[in-house]
Amino acid sequence: MTFPDKTPRGWILLLMLLFLNACDIQQAQLHQQQFLLFGTLVDISLWSDDKQKTENAIAQITTDLEKMHNEWHAWHDSPLTRLNKALAAGQPGTVPPSMIPLLQKSIALSNASDGLFNPAIGRLINLWGFQQDDAPSNTPPDAARIQDLTTAQPKMQDLVLAHDQLTSRNPNVQLDFGAIAKGYAVDLAIEKLRALGIHNAIINAGGNLRAIGKHGDRPWRIGIRNPRGPGVLASIEARGDESMLTSGDYERFFEYQGKRYHHIIDPRTGYPARGFTSVTVIYPDAATADAASTALFVAGPQHWRDIAKKMGLQYIMIVDDKGHVTMTPAMAERVRFELNPAPNFSIVALP
Ligand code: AMP
Ligand code: MG
Repeated sequence: MTFPDKTPRGWILLLMLLFLNACDIQQAQLHQQQFLLFGTLVDISLWSDDKQKTENAIAQITTDLEKMHNEWHAWHDSPLTRLNKALAAGQPGTVPPSMIPLLQKSIALSNASDGLFNPAIGRLINLWGFQQDDAPSNTPPDAARIQDLTTAQPKMQDLVLAHDQLTSRNPNVQLDFGAIAKGYAVDLAIEKLRALGIHNAIINAGGNLRAIGKHGDRPWRIGIRNPRGPGVLASIEARGDESMLTSGDYERFFEYQGKRYHHIIDPRTGYPARGFTSVTVIYPDAATADAASTALFVAGPQHWRDIAKKMGLQYIMIVDDKGHVTMTPAMAERVRFELNPAPNFSIVALP
């Protein structure tokens, strides 16, 4: 049959095509958008059959994320750097509305992690050269300066918030939300997507992600990066609404005399935390998972189980500096190794 032909069947086919077109029936499909923010690649993946709604949602959350990035920036001129200046001068500083819940959540999570997640150590992070757009210098800072900032013990409990006015009992407090902001921003973006009627999505900020719903008729499959070398170490199927965040020593670092100095600082010593190369945590909300992955990284081989218990975590996967993988039993049940051969691993229960 040539088409369009003049037989009754040809006319019926033509009418059906016109009807479908008029209804604008769209196939559900994957929509993706990537951009650079928070010093990393942000990837938005939506599964939807409504192109218009999808485009609008992506535009809105892109704007939201840009605003958060600008308001919470730790070294560009921002409401956060202005607040830090006030605290350093012993003055009250104004907390913008977007930062109040982030600050409150950070105080609670810092307490829950015994202060190992400590966003008050901005001065130490700056001293190590990890608050700059360029690559950090390739020598560790002066030991005496590290010692001074460590013994000054800046901590979140030094802060007092009254309405939108923040004061610090310790002028050495300098806020840096680098260990929680990506997770918290992802939470807010997912909330916005839901409000816009999108229920199947992943928002991934450099391996820090939250997934909702499904990818069509199958679950979203999410990857954990190989901390040493290319590719994916392992993958996991997301269950409905879940966040998976990884802290790794490969994100920002320099090497000096054969040793790696990275951006996750142990507030107890003032030096980069030792023992692990990556820590992955799955938890319902991304902000908690973000703070927790940093806290466990800092806790190190001796203390991570106690901190995990305190923070109410269940799903944890750790790669140590020898490449050995340790997982909690709940995590081990869900992990599929993607490297060949699979790494050596052990399964360790929490206390
Ligand atoms: P993450 O990749 O989530 O582990 O966060 C690392 C970032 O958080 C660093 O680049 C610093 O800005 C900041 N940071 C480093 N060490 C700590 C710490 N012990 N507690 C809170 N934030 C930290
Ligand atoms: Mg973190």
